[in-house]
Amino acid sequence: MASLIKTLALILKTRDIGEADRVVVFLTPAAGQVTALAKHARKSRRRYLNCLEPCSLVQVLYREKPQQELAYLESGELVEAFPEVRQKLTSLAAAACLSESALELVGATDNLEELFAALQSALRLLAAGLPSRSLLCSHLVRVLALGGYGPRWQACQICGQTPAGLAWFSPQQGGILCPNCLNQNRGERLYLLHPGTRKLVLAALNLPLQNLARLRFPALAQTETLTLLRGFIRFILGKDLNTLAFLDKVDWS
Ligand SMILES: [Zn+2]
Repeated sequence: MASLIKTLALILKTRDIGEADRVVVFLTPAAGQVTALAKHARKSRRRYLNCLEPCSLVQVLYREKPQQELAYLESGELVEAFPEVRQKLTSLAAAACLSESALELVGATDNLEELFAALQSALRLLAAGLPSRSLLCSHLVRVLALGGYGPRWQACQICGQTPAGLAWFSPQQGGILCPNCLNQNRGERLYLLHPGTRKLVLAALNLPLQNLARLRFPALAQTETLTLLRGFIRFILGKDLNTLAFLDKVDWS
């Protein structure tokens, strides 16, 4: 039996196939990632009302059949398009990076509702013009943790002590190392992490979501966070996220 599901969804990715159809990948708060075929999406504007753009919040109606990977998108209705996000390269780059992270790095997790809320909140804040690169840091840290890939920032992964000063991030260990345990590293590239950056990362993980809007990562903390997360994600996926690699080309000033 096919089941018909109506839900809010964030569009993560779309791909045209054939003459008229489109495959849409979206995130829902209850079912996680869904890949659905939108039949005649490029011809039947009526059924989808131009709502199938990445980084849009949409009310979707889709049909799912057991044992079938591809769901069938019946209709979609735009709830919020966040047009301001697309008007600036910086906010667009941050939004695209969060979307790709959700696409690639959300495994089986119990935190889908929180994850959905975090992504939705990030899009609202980016649309409102808040500093994009700082928002990307706080929300990317959060999305990784909620998706089930969160590195361990609190204690050294070898001795268990909490470093008071500098720490180093090890993608292989999935967390930080203290200065005493650095010599146990066997040729892996480690990433320097200043105490101020680590404090901000912990705040991004632990603050109530609505308070993330006020959390500001200064430029050094942004660079440290994004560089080490890029290394960590590359280690997990065995490849770079396209959007994270693209961040270097963006003028954030
Ligand atoms: Zn240690």
